Amino acid sequence: MAEVLAALDRRFRNRRIELDASTPWELLVATILSAQCTDDRVNQVVPPLFAVYRTPAAFAAADRATLERLIKPTGFFRAKAQHLIACGHAVMTRFGGEVPKTMEELVTLPGVGRKTANVILGNAFGRPAVVVDTHVTRVSRRLEFSASTDPVRIEFDLQRLIPESRWTVGSHQILLHGRYVCVARRPRCEDCTISDLCDSPDKRLASPPGGAGQALVVMPRAVRRDRMKKTAETDR
Ligand code: SF4
Repeated sequence: MAEVLAALDRRFRNRRIELDASTPWELLVATILSAQCTDDRVNQVVPPLFAVYRTPAAFAAADRATLERLIKPTGFFRAKAQHLIACGHAVMTRFGGEVPKTMEELVTLPGVGRKTANVILGNAFGRPAVVVDTHVTRVSRRLEFSASTDPVRIEFDLQRLIPESRWTVGSHQILLHGRYVCVARRPRCEDCTISDLCDSPDKRLASPPGGAGQALVVMPRAVRRDRMKKTAETDR
């Protein structure tokens, strides 16, 4: 993990989240909208949205049809509009109009799970937080940081492996690596700065000109350890 983080630190120098927001509430809205949607698309949608509805109070009193129309390009707009209105209402009635600052309180808000809560804690409030999305899940499994498919278990596995002071930035850089290099279908292994550290069966050879590339045959780590052990015993 230390070597991976050092390499990703050199590769991904922009440590800021890619969603545009200037307040914790705006980041909460943008993160809810980012479910099943790209950050770029959300960033296109939020300026006209915040021109009409900006504060928790405004969202709590929003006209549902207008809100749905404004957020429609992000997909699942009916459910998201319902969550945003309910979330604005909950922030107004239960938290005095301020986005709460603890995991326990954040996950009580409509439309907010651990992933969204960690985005807010880490990026709006500067608290150490490991964000696990689909990219972090994929990279964590390929690099054997976690054997689980459950985002909560992966979050706890990464918390054990990453120094707490680096939880937010480290998980963000793993996310960027998954988004731009270690992509789902055809990982860009030829452009990967941590290729030497990866034993994943998904690792691929560089594509020949006009060719499709092929999966590398990688000796599993356990087999390699076993062979090294036997060699060491033979040497003794
Ligand atoms: S070598 Fe390929 S599979 Fe392994 S981390 Fe890099 S991009 Fe992902």
